[in-house]
Amino acid sequence: MADVAYCMKCREKREFTGSLVTLKNGRPALQGSCPVCGTKLTKILGMDAAKAMGWTG
Ligand SMILES: [Zn+2]
Repeated sequence: MADVAYCMKCREKREFTGSLVTLKNGRPALQGSCPVCGTKLTKILGMDAAKAMGWTG
């Protein structure tokens, strides 16, 4: 899944490819790494958006 997340290290928005995960608080997120610096990126998804991507919780 490709999405855009803010990279704290680059201080810019980066397009990245991540995988769907469920965070400790039960919320869906997309996790991947910055294509430029390799920092881990986490994009919190809305429930509806995540379900549309195949997230089942
Ligand atoms: Zn970066």
